[in-house]
Amino acid sequence: MAVPRSPAAAAGDADALLLGRGAPAEDRTAADHMPVPPDRTFQVCPVDRPRHYRDDFGEPRWAGGFHRHQGIDIFADRGTPIRAPFDGRAESSASWAGGIQVYVYGRQGFAFNGHLERAGTMGNVKAGDVIGWVGNSGDAQGGSTHDHFEWHPRGGAAVDSFRLLNQACHGHAGSGEKAPLERPPAVLRDPV
Ligand SMILES: [Zn+2]
Repeated sequence: MAVPRSPAAAAGDADALLLGRGAPAEDRTAADHMPVPPDRTFQVCPVDRPRHYRDDFGEPRWAGGFHRHQGIDIFADRGTPIRAPFDGRAESSASWAGGIQVYVYGRQGFAFNGHLERAGTMGNVKAGDVIGWVGNSGDAQGGSTHDHFEWHPRGGAAVDSFRLLNQACHGHAGSGEKAPLERPPAVLRDPV
């Protein structure tokens, strides 16, 4: 179960680390690449079930100074696989705020995953490859385990990926998780 966060744990956020980071999308010449409809940016849900998330993009956060949440927190048990949402190139890094983090650079932009337990397959990856496992590293330490997921179209600023996540995780662009949860959602006093 979730351990309540202590105020001391709320000392920063991976979000701020991404400001100004504009990485070029990888150009793949994949002849074997399956055609992807425009609204299927994510071919695979980034986190395996059971998971839960809501549209918390843009919500006010105070960790590391006031800012708007630049991602969507996908909550799941520690060790739940995190998958590449599209073909691309995966790179891992570490920071005090994001902990163990993995970028996936694809043709349409890059995804950022924070607070991992550990990284998985790096380098060239296909959609669905396990690129890491859910944890609470970085400034999420002591809080609920989750994947802080950001989507940066064309390598630019993060945008709200809620609808894209719904399409990948549920096959529709509705209003969030509809599958019954196996346990009550963890409540964070100060999610990061
Ligand atoms: Zn977050």
